[in-house]
Amino acid sequence: MAASQARLRTGALTALAKGPQSRAELARQLGVSRSTTSLLVSSLLAEGVVEETGDDVEGSKPAGRPGRRIALVAQHGYYVGIDFGRIFIKTAISDANYRIIDESSGDFDIEMPAEAALDFAAAKVEQIIAASRVDRRQINAVGIGVPGPVDAATGHLHAGSILARWVGTDVPGGLSRRLGLPVYMDNDANLGMLAESTYGAARNANVALYVLLSIGVGLGIAINGKIFRGATGIAGELGHVVVDEHGDVCRCGSRGCLEAKISVHALAKALVASHGEISSDEMLRKAAAGDVGANRVVADAGALVGRSIGALCSYFNPEIVIVGGELMRAGDSLLNPLKDAMRRFSIARATENVKVVPAALKEQAELIGTLLFAGEKSRAASPAEQLFGGNEHE
Ligand SMILES: [Zn+2]
Repeated sequence: MAASQARLRTGALTALAKGPQSRAELARQLGVSRSTTSLLVSSLLAEGVVEETGDDVEGSKPAGRPGRRIALVAQHGYYVGIDFGRIFIKTAISDANYRIIDESSGDFDIEMPAEAALDFAAAKVEQIIAASRVDRRQINAVGIGVPGPVDAATGHLHAGSILARWVGTDVPGGLSRRLGLPVYMDNDANLGMLAESTYGAARNANVALYVLLSIGVGLGIAINGKIFRGATGIAGELGHVVVDEHGDVCRCGSRGCLEAKISVHALAKALVASHGEISSDEMLRKAAAGDVGANRVVADAGALVGRSIGALCSYFNPEIVIVGGELMRAGDSLLNPLKDAMRRFSIARATENVKVVPAALKEQAELIGTLLFAGEKSRAASPAEQLFGGNEHE
């Protein structure tokens, strides 16, 4: 299959993942002619991955086949997702079309020993399976997101990774043994990018960046609608780019990393002299309410990360930059200085048309990404259900 044809096919299936659509609607979303879309739909119908629904599109001619909506043939089973943050854990269970049936979030400490963390996570998953009343034999796979780089070839945490207490532990294998289910792991920012590409702000973008600003700083890169992981899975370690060589030593061992400067914890710490001990939640609330000091640290953080994004725009020439994570709660007091710095620190042509927007899926992007990743991996593992054409979607 020619690459453009494969891309069109993936585009159509991704669009249909959001619900049934008419041929005209599909043509509009894909940006191709109706006749090209009709040919594509005919081949998908022949493959048996889509079907015509009974309901006619409003206003179409009676009995006219082109008026029928096209839907994905229903997938079977369920997916479970776990988003590991540094101080939280979120879990969700969805059907095979990624509609969330149940979800939960709670406190977590990523500094706890890996085996204890896996026991804790497995218990959370058991709770959500029980609450959803889903028959666990119908669960296809579990996807997990972690705030650190994952080796793209092995699916394990990178040796020397910043999750010091987890290195050397087979995280997906350990969880898989506890749950009796296949488990697939990826970096959280990659998963946020995957979710925004599929359902969020990057739906129609070929080249997109997703910047995750939270206790850590991460970056997901989508090229031609696919997540770019680099040679070994480290692509996007934006948080550990050095922005101040005399800055504080970072947990990665380097000095003055972007993350050490602008994590929500670092920003809250910068307010101790003026505001006393303040939590990152409180700092974000104050920033949104117009507190001058809180706004200042948030604006400076936006300007600093904007510099790095400007450089990224010169490297990748994206159509859209999506900003996610809890720091985005600060809204325009973060985003405006970020945009200014991005434009100042890039080739003008690289940023003149770049859209900079908050994550459409807000702070749920990573969790939705874990479900999508579970689906992607489990379909690739079962050849009969390679709906998206295997490696084309990898
Ligand atoms: Zn670092």
